This record gives sequence, C-alpha cells and structure tokens, in this order.
Amino acid sequence: MRTRLSLVLALSVALCGSYVYAQFGAKPSVLSTIKVRDDLFVIYNDLVPGNTTVLVTNQGLILVDNKFEIDFDNLMAEIKKISPQPIRYVINTHYHGDHSGGNAKMQVQNAQVVASERARRKMVDANQPGPPNVTLENNVRLYLGGKRVEVHHFGRAHTDGDVVAYFPDQRVVAMGDMFTVGAGLPALVDYPGGGSMREWPRSIDGALTLDFDTAIPGHGKPVAKEDLRKYRDSVAALGRRVIEMQSKKASRAEIDKELRSRFGFEDFHIQLSLDGLLAELR
Ligand SMILES: [Zn+2]
Repeated sequence: MRTRLSLVLALSVALCGSYVYAQFGAKPSVLSTIKVRDDLFVIYNDLVPGNTTVLVTNQGLILVDNKFEIDFDNLMAEIKKISPQPIRYVINTHYHGDHSGGNAKMQVQNAQVVASERARRKMVDANQPGPPNVTLENNVRLYLGGKRVEVHHFGRAHTDGDVVAYFPDQRVVAMGDMFTVGAGLPALVDYPGGGSMREWPRSIDGALTLDFDTAIPGHGKPVAKEDLRKYRDSVAALGRRVIEMQSKKASRAEIDKELRSRFGFEDFHIQLSLDGLLAELR
C-alpha cells in the first residue's frame, strides 16, 4: 500500500511539473481564451497545465478541469472575462494535479466537483486538496440553465479513471489526457495510475461513438473529430509496434529509440512509461 501510494505520489509530482517539466507548475502559466462556440470556451496555455473548458449557462458555469492551484487567480480572471456567472460544476477528467489543482478553491465558492470514483480515490490516497463531491462509474448527466453535459468513462487509457465531457448541443467533447495535441505531448500512460496502452484505442472508440464536430484535447488546441480518429490510430500503432518489437526480441534500447523517433517520446515519457509499456505489451 505504502509502495503503491508513494508511486502514485511520485508520478503525480512528476506530472505536476517538478521533474523534467520543472519550469511548469512552479509559477503561473500565461493563459488565453479560445472561443469554440458562442457559449463554450477553452482557457488555453502552452504544454502544461491542462486545458480548462467553460460552458456558459444563465444559471452558472460548468468547467472541465481547472489547471494547477498556482494558476487559480489567472484562471478566475480569464473566466470573469467570459462571464460573471458563478462556477456551479467542475468536471475533473482525471486525478492529475494540472487538471484538478483548482478544486479546493472552487469548492469554497460552492462549485460541485465531479469525477470518476477511481480518480477520486487516487486524489484521496495522494492527499490532493479538494477531492470530488460527486463520482460516477460509467456516466452521469449534468443539467443547468437548460443545457446538458454528459460525463462518460469509456475505459482505461491515460489512467484507469479517465472521463470525457460531452456537450451534445454544442457538438463538442473535452477529452482530458486521453487525447493530446502537439509536440512534446505523445500518448503517455500513467501505469501507477492504472492506465493502459492496450485498452486506450478502445476507450477512444467509445468517445468516437458520440455525435460531435470538435474535440478539445487535455493539452493543445481544439481540433476536428477526424483528428481524434487519427490520434486513435496512432495510439493503436504504438501499442502494436511495441508488441511486434518485443516478439522479435528487440532490446529495451531499440524500443526506446523507436518510441523517440516514431512516436515523439522524450526523456520524460521514456522514464515514466517505458517499463510499463514493456510489461504490458508483450
Ligand atoms: Zn494527466
């Protein structure tokens, strides 16, 4: 238990930015707002922390993810530029601190935090502030101000508790780190957090059954549904490639090299996930 917990903690700390990403999470990131629909916005920054999605209703706001705690003041300032409405719900796509760091401060403002039960358990185990108030196993719907948001868990991917937020009227999904866009952001499995490269493509397939036009990644700018489909195929190709190389008795160094040259891995991703990939994909 202690070992597992310290692994989770070490990984959380790593993903929270005191590792290779030492420059992230130590000071507030520069934020900007991308308008996706008339009532739906992404509060964006380079690389880390994660995106925050904001749905505006006349009874309050529904957010998906809320960056690091250190980004709270800037995030609130950016939200106020969009709408004076209070934050009523925050959906955490997963437990990592760069997606859930604003929870405690938003709960003080009476926001309800929604996440998978698995994500909540990890946040409690790791003593992260602001564990979710409402949890789900497979799905839940939020209704506010005449609008609807669906929260779905489609299976393991980046962690074992990833959820997707679906805005049916806006035809948008917010994917969390099941989907990342841009250099330095390859598919990264958090193995101590229960993630799975083998199951990841199938979990994205679940999201692809939804009816939408725009996919908001956990990190990176919003893109078209077709880009999520391509990403799904690249994740599947990565898994197949590691299985194939291991079946041909490729060395760890050869697989390391392949992940870097073909799948965009850097030291950070190798150190966090290569052992797990080798163990899972054989
Ligand atoms: Zn993450």
